[in-house]
Amino acid sequence: MHEPRKLYVKSFGCQMNVYDSHRMADTLAREGFVETQDPAEADLVILNTCHIREKAAEKVYSELGRLRKQKQEAGSDTMIAVAGCVAQAEGAEIMRRAPVVDVVVGPQSYHRLPELLAEAKAGKRVVDTEFPAEDKFDHLPTPTRAATRSRGPAAFVTVQEGCDKFCTFCVVPYTRGAEVSRPVTKILDEAARLLDQGVREITLIGQNVNAFHGEGLDGKVWSLARLMERLAQMKGLARLRYTTSHPRDMGEDLIAAHRDLPQLMPYLHLPVQSGSDRILAAMNRKHGRDLFLSLIEKMRDARPDLALSSDFIVGFPGETDRDFEDTLDLVHEVGFASAYSFKYSSRPGTPAAEHEAQVAEEVKTERLAELQKLLEASKAAFDAACRGRTFDILLEKPGRQPGQLIGRSPYLQSVVVNDPPAGIGELLTVTITDVGPNSLAGVPAETPLSPALSRPLAAMEA
Ligand code: SAM
Ligand code: SF4
Repeated sequence: MHEPRKLYVKSFGCQMNVYDSHRMADTLAREGFVETQDPAEADLVILNTCHIREKAAEKVYSELGRLRKQKQEAGSDTMIAVAGCVAQAEGAEIMRRAPVVDVVVGPQSYHRLPELLAEAKAGKRVVDTEFPAEDKFDHLPTPTRAATRSRGPAAFVTVQEGCDKFCTFCVVPYTRGAEVSRPVTKILDEAARLLDQGVREITLIGQNVNAFHGEGLDGKVWSLARLMERLAQMKGLARLRYTTSHPRDMGEDLIAAHRDLPQLMPYLHLPVQSGSDRILAAMNRKHGRDLFLSLIEKMRDARPDLALSSDFIVGFPGETDRDFEDTLDLVHEVGFASAYSFKYSSRPGTPAAEHEAQVAEEVKTERLAELQKLLEASKAAFDAACRGRTFDILLEKPGRQPGQLIGRSPYLQSVVVNDPPAGIGELLTVTITDVGPNSLAGVPAETPLSPALSRPLAAMEA
């Protein structure tokens, strides 16, 4: 019998890429590949890339440089594939800049990987960045029980891909294409399989997840709220999340779902980008500061314990000190539990890249440092307020010390528990005793909060 071939997949960027990496690994498992964590022993290395910021693409090229050296030194014939949004955007340019690459494959063609690798094996250098008419999800295999278990009790399910919003700074509408939603029945099938394999928490993902408008079980178009209502009825599903949302698509039914669905976690990632109406208009965000703030108010009315996270860009072309002050002011007003913040990075082909009033690099650096200081203080205040609180955590993996397990709070904080009376894949009610910069510590609470959900319905074997 042949030794199984080894596959190393490195994911850059967002959750969509993590999900896609898993689907690629599942596809190649059928071709006899097993995953390894060591690129040096791999027969095939896939870099699943992100094109959001300039440095992300540069990181890929330097990674390819390292792989070339490693290949030369070892005299190996490891095949190298570049997938993801850099593959989609750069296409054949990658072949020119990095002769070590055998296959370039865009996000819509992952189901074709086996054929593409066979062509590469026959000596061709292959580029596939088409948007094929067939639905790739129909051709991507489902993960095995062992693969799901190795990925833990919290899983992603893609419900929507692409974006029609065309924010003036963003490459996503070009690299991922137009918004497409998956039919509800296929999403439910995928969720049912994951739950059967021991998954307890599902995060629905999409570049613009709350723009979801998939064909429902009744043949009509279903919203994200309607989909989640149906998912919440599934046996074994303890927790539900969705990301990433756009403020314009926070419909009334979605806000109500936060009130009505106990499985829907009280945590929402809602990117705002800027607190200045002038900049939001120049970004073509299709919402102003007031709409964002009024949404937050409605959401908090629906779910008073809701915590928020967001994305910010500083130094967008034309951003003045005054505009930046408006962003700081918005952060003060909302009080975010966590956030991502970036310097604006000019992406060729997007309208903002052509803007004359580009902001100087030093100014961007200063503004980012100031914003991050404020966001970190806001996060620290939120974490500190968790001390003494009691909530359920989903136990996900072993901790550093023997007997320790690490779980996730409803707010996605890591919570360390010593010798918990429960295993990976179970919910445990804990009271938070300590708050550190990267994680919290908790002890099992006397009375579980939600005994029905805590039942070890499908606890995961380690
Ligand atoms: N769809 C989401 C939304 O509506 O905001 C997020 C998409 S994007 C993958 C994630 C984040 O990257 C954005 O929210 C934005 O803050 C940041 N981003 C996108 N393009 C950028 C650019 N050119 N420069 C800096 N940050 C950027
Ligand atoms: Fe990019 Fe804007 Fe679409 Fe988000 S909504 S993916 S930032 S274009």
